[in-house]
Amino acid sequence: MALVDMNELVTIAKKNDVLLPAFNTTNLEMTLAIMDAFERAGMPGIIQIAPTNVRLSGYEYISTIVHMADKSYSVPFALHLDHGKTIDDVRNAVNAGFTSVMIDGAALPFEENILFSRRAVDYCHCKGVPVEAELGAIKGKEDDHVSEADLKTDPSQVKEFVEGSGCDLLAVSVGNVHGLEDTPKIDLPLLEKISAVSPCPLVLHGGSGIEYSTIFAMKKYNMVKINIASDLRRAFISSVGKAYEANAMEHNLAKVLLEARSAVTEVAYKTLLAINGME
Ligand SMILES: [Zn+2]
Repeated sequence: MALVDMNELVTIAKKNDVLLPAFNTTNLEMTLAIMDAFERAGMPGIIQIAPTNVRLSGYEYISTIVHMADKSYSVPFALHLDHGKTIDDVRNAVNAGFTSVMIDGAALPFEENILFSRRAVDYCHCKGVPVEAELGAIKGKEDDHVSEADLKTDPSQVKEFVEGSGCDLLAVSVGNVHGLEDTPKIDLPLLEKISAVSPCPLVLHGGSGIEYSTIFAMKKYNMVKINIASDLRRAFISSVGKAYEANAMEHNLAKVLLEARSAVTEVAYKTLLAINGME
């Protein structure tokens, strides 16, 4: 079985010394495009979706697509809930068959974030699902997810947070931003300090817009999962837009969407290799 839980996928990534790209999906075409990229590269990766996008696709639909893909693809992959904001988000994803979730309590005060994340961890671990939590706020805008806060992760809080929440992965704020409207400024020395004290592997949000060489350099600091959303969405939208511009009377929707799917695969494939220093 190629669909595995996040802890198993992280073990595979560490064994093969690779970073895991976590690409955000929205619909059927994006999901298959991302799977095609993993398969072409023969490398493991993560399909993820945030509640903002579940509005379109539904947990069950996306999960069913991914579970069906499990029959046609051989590379190991995980299905992850990105930015779960409530315990209901988490429960819906787990019950639909997601193999990993993120609980985002980053906007809460430190102690409350620990307790809130702990609740998600207790629920998910009972169901055998690993959990990513976040410490420090990541600035920027991604769909409807907006954060004005820009608070870097404090290394002195990391150990207490990971042990107190029981999370399996930790999303950090080290100058990374969401979306393409703000400019990231990665603080590698801070990441090194965090990795020295973190009991668990780390996650980078806002991978679009960061130099690939900088991302690759993070691997030695226990970074394992790199979230990339905006680049793939742009590829999809611009492919559909170009089809319309080329022929405003175009009505072959399957052709247009197959082209969009290929465009996303191309970007995902290149990104997957690039963050692993294989350009
Ligand atoms: Zn994020």
